[in-house]
Amino acid sequence: MSSGNHHDEHLDTLAGRIQKATGVKLTHCYQCGKCAAGCPVADQMDLTSCNALRMLQYGLPEYDERVLRSEGIWLCLACETCSTRCPQEVEIPKVMDFIRGEALAKNLAHPKSADILAFHRAFLDSIEYTGRLYEVGLVADYKVRSRHFLKDVMLAPKMYVKGKLDLLPHLIRNRRGMKNLFKQTMGKG
Ligand code: SF4
Ligand code: SF4
Repeated sequence: MSSGNHHDEHLDTLAGRIQKATGVKLTHCYQCGKCAAGCPVADQMDLTSCNALRMLQYGLPEYDERVLRSEGIWLCLACETCSTRCPQEVEIPKVMDFIRGEALAKNLAHPKSADILAFHRAFLDSIEYTGRLYEVGLVADYKVRSRHFLKDVMLAPKMYVKGKLDLLPHLIRNRRGMKNLFKQTMGKG
């Protein structure tokens, strides 16, 4: 399809754009599956980290689109378990983050992404304003923002909270760390 010259062809693929933006080389993945085996949300994902990387390695537009439309990319908690376990040091959270941004930019984001983004904002505001996570307030705020009560999508936020709880006391003690977290996380939704 692409009429780009040989040099630009690389950037026509999502893998190429990921590499350019994040420095992560998807060709390094040799499909050992260790990332997905340790991922706390892999069993909820339509495409696990490992599956998504495999699809992207093909560099085919239809596979790129399948990954962009995936629900799984929105469930990733950025916990870094995958990249810690990866023998090839593939930084999957960076890849997930880039793909989410691209999915939004191209209007291909999974319908549940809006709810998950609303939750992330409520979650981050809750920490930002109180320095503490008040789960009840958080869920109430989330419901206001998303304007409806959630059913299955609440699964993701629950895991999100669970995944982040260990991290929170540390972040709250370390306000600079918290500020950095906001800087990195906000402005993307
Ligand atoms: S652990 Fe690393 S090399 Fe193994 S499948 Fe996952 S990304 Fe690929
Ligand atoms: S960073 Fe995302 S993909 Fe990696 S283990 Fe955590 S939830 Fe799974």
